[in-house]
Amino acid sequence: MDYRILSEKAIAGEALSREEARAVLETPDDRVLELLDAAYAVRHKFFGRKVRLQMLQNAKSGACQEDCGYCSQSAVSTADIKKYGLLKKSQMVEAAKRAAASKAIRYCIVISGRGPLDREISEISEAVREIKGSVPVQVCCSLGLLTEDDARRLKAAGVDRINHNLNASERFHPQMVTTHTYQDRLTTIGNARAAGLEICSGGIAGMGETDEDLIDLALSLREVRPDSIPMNFLHPAEGTPMEGRKHLTPQRCLKVLCLFRFLHPRTELRVAGGREFNLRSLQALALYPADSLFVGGYLTTPGMPAAEAWKMIEDLGFEVDTVGAPVPVE
Ligand code: SF4
Repeated sequence: MDYRILSEKAIAGEALSREEARAVLETPDDRVLELLDAAYAVRHKFFGRKVRLQMLQNAKSGACQEDCGYCSQSAVSTADIKKYGLLKKSQMVEAAKRAAASKAIRYCIVISGRGPLDREISEISEAVREIKGSVPVQVCCSLGLLTEDDARRLKAAGVDRINHNLNASERFHPQMVTTHTYQDRLTTIGNARAAGLEICSGGIAGMGETDEDLIDLALSLREVRPDSIPMNFLHPAEGTPMEGRKHLTPQRCLKVLCLFRFLHPRTELRVAGGREFNLRSLQALALYPADSLFVGGYLTTPGMPAAEAWKMIEDLGFEVDTVGAPVPVE
């Protein structure tokens, strides 16, 4: 495989064939640098050397009734995590200020649960109004399943973007969760888009899915056309149904990111949850295909502090994007 052919196709806006996508995931470990070089050509074309930072706040933790096998907050998890109800408005606003001080371009309010209560939408909306009036940060919300009315209320409050991940291929989805369907996810994404919200939707690698599942997920996301794709790597927390699934290597994570870069050349691609746990000493290399990362931790696990991420980015010769403007395409 000549990986440069894949960069040329991606830059020209052509989708990889299934065979080419398979070849990316089957890249021998001693050719990963060649693969990264090809993916970087695409990333550089559309995003230059900029890296967008994002920070999230778990605004309501644990006690969820859903059974997502990867999640330590689910009804079937016995993981030892903090559990609390919706944070106060002042706490959500303070966290947004911390995100801005961390040079995060976007702050994401996340709550556990199948979907938000009416009261929760109202309280989150109030917090978002205050954030948008006083903190220089974009706001994303990840609140579970949404009706179109929920989405419109959030949009009216100033929310910029909704995160709702497909997470897996349609085929693998029932092995991951049984309390909601793949179609429920698509419906929520459609409702958010109908309300005029930007869409963030990605997936999780390492749950036991096949290469074909990952390729299907990447292709399904081409139909969704999200504004950003968070690629998570399973952190198999003790007490969750997926605790024994340690399938990932750092090289495997890099190959997955390259696949998503080739199939989503112009889309913000975030190396998301599980980065520190799975990529370990190779984390910096993830920024050759990806142009975005989280700082300051995840929902129930700690992550790299912002200052360390800034240093990693500087050491790579990249720069933190504090504006979020698209790189002009020649
Ligand atoms: S991912 Fe969300 S919906 Fe699924 S179990 Fe966790 S908190 Fe509940």
